[in-house]
Amino acid sequence: MKEKYHRAITREALHLHFGPVALAEVVHANVGQDAIRYQFGHDHFHYDNNAFRAGDAYVAEQRRLVIETLKMNGLPSVARAAFGRLTHTVQDFYAHSNYVTLWREQYPAATPQEIEPSVPEILTSPRLSSGRIYAPLEYLSFFPFLAPALLPLLPRDSHAWMNKDDPLRPDFEYAYSAAVKRTQHEFEQICLALSAAQCAVFLGKA
Ligand SMILES: [Zn+2]
Repeated sequence: MKEKYHRAITREALHLHFGPVALAEVVHANVGQDAIRYQFGHDHFHYDNNAFRAGDAYVAEQRRLVIETLKMNGLPSVARAAFGRLTHTVQDFYAHSNYVTLWREQYPAATPQEIEPSVPEILTSPRLSSGRIYAPLEYLSFFPFLAPALLPLLPRDSHAWMNKDDPLRPDFEYAYSAAVKRTQHEFEQICLALSAAQCAVFLGKA
C-alpha cells in the first residue's frame, strides 16, 4: 500500500478506540516500515515474494511483543510501535497477495464492504501467492512515470502486476476494506488478551 492509504486504513480502523497521541504513534510505526532500507531483504514486512510463513511469524512476534510489554507494565509507546509494525504487514497482505482475487472468485457479486479478511480455505490455499520482486526492473517501476513502459516487460506474477497499492490498481477497494477489517480484528485480539486497565494504557486512555 502507498503510505497515504496505510495512514487512512489505520486511522479508519482504530480512531474510535485510541486516543489521538497513541494513534499517532501507531500510524508513525506503521508507515516507518516502508522506509527505503526496509524495501530490500524485508519481504516478511510486506508479504512480498510469497513470504507468507515469515510474514505470519513476524506478525505473531509483534503481537506477542505488544501483549508482553503491556502485561509487564512496560512503556506503552513500545507496545504501540510493535502494533504499528504489525498493522503495516497485515495491511500489505491484501495489497500484495492474490487473497482478494481468490475471495472474489467465490463471491463475484459481493461489494468491497462485504469482503471477509480471514477465510481459512483461502489462507491455506495452495493457490495463494504474492507478487515477486524482479530486480532491478521492479524497483524502477516504483516511479509512476516509468511504470507504464516497464509493466509489459515484467511477468504476471510480479509485484508490479499483482499489487493493489493504490486506487489505480484493480480491486484496490477490496484490498482496502479487507485491510481495515483485519486491522480492527488484530486490535480486538490484543485487547482480549489484556485486562481492561492494560488495554486503557495501550489506547492512551488510562
Ligand atoms: Zn509495505
